[in-house]
Amino acid sequence: MPIISGKEISAQIREELKSEVEDLKSHGIHPCLAVVLVGKDPASEIYVRNKKRTCEKLGIRSIGYDLNEDTTQEKLEDLIQTLNRDSQVNGILCQFPLPGDLNEEYVILKIAPDKDVDGLHPMNAGLLAMGRPKFISCTPFGVLQLLKRSKCDTRGKHVVVLGRSNLVGRPVSALLSQKGLDATVTVCHSRTQNLKEMTKQADILIAAIGKPEFVTGDMVKEGAVVIDVGTNRVDDANHPKGYRLCGDVLFAEVEPKASKITPVPGGVGPMTIAMLMYNTVNAARIQNGLGPLTTS
Ligand code: NAP
Repeated sequence: MPIISGKEISAQIREELKSEVEDLKSHGIHPCLAVVLVGKDPASEIYVRNKKRTCEKLGIRSIGYDLNEDTTQEKLEDLIQTLNRDSQVNGILCQFPLPGDLNEEYVILKIAPDKDVDGLHPMNAGLLAMGRPKFISCTPFGVLQLLKRSKCDTRGKHVVVLGRSNLVGRPVSALLSQKGLDATVTVCHSRTQNLKEMTKQADILIAAIGKPEFVTGDMVKEGAVVIDVGTNRVDDANHPKGYRLCGDVLFAEVEPKASKITPVPGGVGPMTIAMLMYNTVNAARIQNGLGPLTTS
C-alpha cells in the first residue's frame, strides 16, 4: 500500500493520548492548553477551532484567548507572561500569522520554553539542533511519526529536504540527521542549483516549499518515499468551494514512482495537530515531575 495515511496514523496517536490523559487525570493531573488568537483571519480561526476541538476529544482542557486585531505587542506579551506563571496551564500556543505589526519572534521568545508546545522557542530549536530534543515543533514531529509508523527506516538513508524554514525545513533536517535516526540529510532552498539532480538522489524526499505541485515525476527516484508537507490552495472553478487543496508534489505523476507517499489533504496536516496534543500532554507530565512521554 503506497499511501501513508496521516488520517489513520494521527487517529492512532490521538487514541494513545486519550488513554494517557485519562491516566494523568486519575492522578489529579489535567493537561491544559492555552490557545491565543489575535484578529479574525478566517484560516487561523479554523485552525484554532480544530485545535480546541481536538483537545476536547482527548480530554485536554483548552482555554481560548481571542484578542482584537488592534492588540498591542505589550498586551500580547503580558498575556503570555501571565500564562507562563499560571500553574494550571501546561502549554501555550499563539496562532500565527499575527496581524499588523505584531512581532512573532518576540512572542515566541516570551513563551516559557517548558510551555512551548509548538517547539519554536530558540531553546527548543537549539536542543533539537544539539540532538537532545524536548519539544519538537509539531509538523517536523508529525513527519517523523509518519515515517516511523509506516516502517520507513531512516538509518543511512539519503533524505532530501526542500525548504529551510524555521517551522519545517530546518527542524525536520535537524531531527532526521540526529543519532538514532541517522539519515544523511541534504537541505535545498530557493538558491539551490540543479535541484532536480538533488531530488533524484533522495531515498526519502520531503517537500516543504509552499509551491503547488512543484515536484514532478521526473524529479523523483523510482522507489523513493515522498512526504508532502505543502498545503496550498489553488483556484478551481470545478470545485464547490472554488478552490482545491494541493501539496508541493504533483501527486498523479509522483505516486506511481514512489514506494510510499503522503496525500494532501490527509497526510502531514492531521499529524501537526496530533503532535501539538502530544507536546501538551508531554508538558503536563514534565511539569508534574513525571518523565517525558516515550513515542513508539
Ligand atoms: P516558508 O517559510 O515560505 O519556506 C519555504 C521554503 O521553501 C524556503 O526555505 C524557500 O527557500 C524554499 N523554497 C521556495 N521556493 C523554492 C524552490 N523553487 N526550490 C527550492 N526551495 C524553495 O514555508 P513553510 O512555513 O516552511 O511552509 C512550507 C509549506 O508547508 C507551505 O505550503 C505550508 O502551507 C506548508 N505547511 C504545512 C503544515 C501542515 O501542518 N501540513 C505546517 C506548516 C507548513 P528560501 O529560504 O531560499 O527562501
